[in-house]
Amino acid sequence: MENSPKKIRLATIWLDGCSGCHMSILDMDEKLIEIAQYVDVVYSPYVDAKEFPSDVDLTIVEGALSTDHDIAMIKKIRENSKLILALGDCAITGNISAMKNLFGSDGVLQKGYFDLADINESNAYPSKIVPKLLDKVLPLHEVVKVDYFLPGCPAPYNAIYEMLKALIEGREINIYEYTRFGK
Ligand code: SF4
Repeated sequence: MENSPKKIRLATIWLDGCSGCHMSILDMDEKLIEIAQYVDVVYSPYVDAKEFPSDVDLTIVEGALSTDHDIAMIKKIRENSKLILALGDCAITGNISAMKNLFGSDGVLQKGYFDLADINESNAYPSKIVPKLLDKVLPLHEVVKVDYFLPGCPAPYNAIYEMLKALIEGREINIYEYTRFGK
């Protein structure tokens, strides 16, 4: 990659995902050092930023949308990001996260907090600390415009590297040469 005059302001976030796709980012290993020359990580589980910043060039989003908090967050991300990359099958289709849709929010809460609970002294859902579940888990593109899709479960590290390299260099890429759904 040529030297970039201005570093890309990069954010990453996981919403309703298992963190496996973020582990794949770390799996780039020594390639992270190469990528780090071209990006400033301004918000991510990897850094200690508390608030999602403005004027982000690229946000990589892992996970589907399962709660009212996820919806608010993805809208905030869209307002403040030039590009959004949906990373992994959960972000793109709902995937594992959307298995809940077979049972509905009430069924999942009933199973998690009552049927399988050893202790629930309040006999109620912890609604003050658990965000409100949506009736249906949604992929990102059903709520906001998504610019790039990178499938896989998890998204493979080499596909993430090739995608980031292409974006840094400002060229298009056929990501299906490197990954596919369920890979
Ligand atoms: S796509 Fe797979 S690895 Fe990535 S967050 Fe979803 S379940 Fe985890």
